[in-house]
Amino acid sequence: MDERSATEVVNWAWDTFKEDLVLACGFVADDMVLLDMLSRVAPSLKIAVVDSGRLFPETYEFMDKVYDRYRCKVSFFTPDTGSLQRYLCANGPNEFRHDHKLRLDCCELRRHEPLRRALDGCKAWMAGLRRSQRGKRASVEKVALDAVHAGLVKICPLADWSWEQVWAYVKEHSVPTHPFYEKGYMSIGCAPCTRPSRSGDERGGRWWWEDPKEREDGIHFTFEDEPSK
Ligand code: SF4
Repeated sequence: MDERSATEVVNWAWDTFKEDLVLACGFVADDMVLLDMLSRVAPSLKIAVVDSGRLFPETYEFMDKVYDRYRCKVSFFTPDTGSLQRYLCANGPNEFRHDHKLRLDCCELRRHEPLRRALDGCKAWMAGLRRSQRGKRASVEKVALDAVHAGLVKICPLADWSWEQVWAYVKEHSVPTHPFYEKGYMSIGCAPCTRPSRSGDERGGRWWWEDPKEREDGIHFTFEDEPSK
């Protein structure tokens, strides 16, 4: 499968899984490229948005533009209220900046647990990971059994794309992009954990206070340092 182009992988994914496929969309440029490709072949695609409750206001504004352009149907998945309340009462909103385990706990309850619900009942999901994002992503495959979510196929059609290829596609197809890219952001997630990355390291603006090896959230990779329950 790795020799196939991104478009071929996208088309194969839809032909193979149809409504059992979910696109996890965080509204970054990579996700927008996948949404654009899928919109051409998969009108009834399931799109899952994990709303952590801490997204930038501009991300919600951008969603409106995406709806207008693609007329897509989106399902939102939000954190469990009770778990979130317990976490906040015990730790406050931003204490995770001083404690990696608390950060993983926050990502688990605000991002990963809602995503698991989004993937419940499907057979495959698609994400915009690329090897050029380095770190744990350097060896991501286009199609593989998901090591984190047992029983699911994980599809990353852009695995062998560069940042430049993403933006060439965006330009060629007039794909809408989050306004923060113009401010120097190279990846966009939760507001307290994302800042511009002027170093050219695409992931450098995410959880920037942590060791680069730890700058993931458990959704795509397992950690030795797992969140506490
Ligand atoms: S990215 Fe930050 S705010 Fe968002 S879930 Fe993870 S720790 Fe919490």
